[in-house]
Amino acid sequence: MSETQSGGSHAHAGSSHAHTGGCQCGAVRFRVEGPLGDASVCHCRMCQKAFGGFYAPLVTVPMSALTWTRGEPKRFQSSNAGRRGFCADCGTPLTYEAPDGIAIAIGAFDDPKEIAPQIQWGIESKLPFVDSIPALPQKPTQADSGAASFLAVLESFQHPDHDTEQWPPA
Ligand SMILES: [Zn+2]
Ligand SMILES: [Zn+2]
Repeated sequence: MSETQSGGSHAHAGSSHAHTGGCQCGAVRFRVEGPLGDASVCHCRMCQKAFGGFYAPLVTVPMSALTWTRGEPKRFQSSNAGRRGFCADCGTPLTYEAPDGIAIAIGAFDDPKEIAPQIQWGIESKLPFVDSIPALPQKPTQADSGAASFLAVLESFQHPDHDTEQWPPA
C-alpha cells in the first residue's frame, strides 16, 4: 500500500503512518511509528476511576514503536500487574501499562477519529446508563444561550493537535 493510500480516507487503527498525540497541556507528547494494535473500550471500575469517565478508550501499541517526544508520563501502580500513566502537570490520562504491553488513551491522539474501538471489555462493570447515551438529546455548544458571553471571550490554552517546536509558545 502506498503512502498516499494509507493516509487517505481509509485510514484506521491498522494504517501504517505515524500517529502523534499528547496531553492537554502539552508537557507530554508521544509518537507511534507504523500500525496501531487493538482498539477497545474498557468498562472496568479501575478504568472508570483512572479516566474519570464512564469507560476507558484504549489502543495497544508495540512498545518498540512508541517514543515519548516531549516529557514522559508519571505512573501510578494501580495493581500488582498494571500501571497508569498520566501527565503530572495537567492530569490527562495517557497509558495503561502491563507486563505484556502498553495501551494509549485514544482521546489523547491528535487524530482520534481514525481509531475506532472494535470491542468492549469489562462489561460486568458497565454503568447502567451508558448504552442509552446515544439516544439522549443532542445540541451544539452554541445552543447553550446562557454561555454565549462566556464563549465569545473564551481562549484555549490546550496544546494543538500537532507537534510543536516550542510549547508554550514564546
Ligand atoms: Zn499535560
Ligand atoms: Zn479496564
